[in-house]
Amino acid sequence: RTVYLNGEFIAEQDAKVSVFDRGFLFADAVYEVSAVLNGRLLDNAAHLARLSRSCQALNLRLPCQPEDIEALQNRLIAENSLQEGAIYLQISRGNSGDRDFDFPGESVEPTFLMFTQARPLIDHPKSKTGIRMVSVEDIRWQRRDIKTVGLLAPCLAKEYAHRHDADDALLVENGLITEASSSNAWIVDAEGTLVTRPLSTHILHGITRQALLALAKQHDIRLEERPFTLEEAMNAREVFISSATTFIWPVISLNGKVIGGGVPGPVTGKLREIYVAEAMRATAG
Ligand code: PMP
Repeated sequence: RTVYLNGEFIAEQDAKVSVFDRGFLFADAVYEVSAVLNGRLLDNAAHLARLSRSCQALNLRLPCQPEDIEALQNRLIAENSLQEGAIYLQISRGNSGDRDFDFPGESVEPTFLMFTQARPLIDHPKSKTGIRMVSVEDIRWQRRDIKTVGLLAPCLAKEYAHRHDADDALLVENGLITEASSSNAWIVDAEGTLVTRPLSTHILHGITRQALLALAKQHDIRLEERPFTLEEAMNAREVFISSATTFIWPVISLNGKVIGGGVPGPVTGKLREIYVAEAMRATAG
């Protein structure tokens, strides 16, 4: 792969970052992941707007204007002939030449890197079969709305899920589901209403979540933004997760309890169909 690092497009094996980089030492860095479909970025303006908000919240300097970032993303997609998958970008507070908690001075440049990942989005097998999930306590920090690279808690949650014969984990705080380890969580409740947790500092403000809410409104799908409990999820008609790299994946079991008869549900299926159609339209040549 060709990757991007601080102004250069280079082979991945030649891309080197200092051991004193604050991203490495303190997870003092933010990131974004945008989907690429038909060789084009999907919903990228929203991802870059969230990147700006993450940077602002941490008093981190953007390395360049959002338009310039998008041009660099498009060049990297072209360099790697990426048709379908994702582009990852990360901005850290840079290398201040030593390990020191204090922020470095203005003269220290942020470290800006990007790479592409080829993966199926439209025809991913899990979008058809659905996934098995388990719940785990949400032990993350209290600013989950900032997209930082401090991702050890979700790594532990996924590892816990794999050890318990599941694909992924739903995170629970005070009995309420916050989100999934790397996606937003949704249910179709006992009344048939689509439910997802409202925005706050407790969850990441998912770009796919936002797009799905707009599409559900357009298509007159009854929906409610409210917190829901683990118990409600376990008894829901349908459960699914959303993110830029999964779009929508159905959940067919939770803590070993079968959801919706063990097959992807109708509302989940319809929403995915609507979302995929819109994504194809938005990225068509
Ligand atoms: N929540 C968490 C914790 C995530 O890591 C992600 C994916 N980055 C999401 C939600 C989904 O966000 P998006 O739809 O913007 O990919």
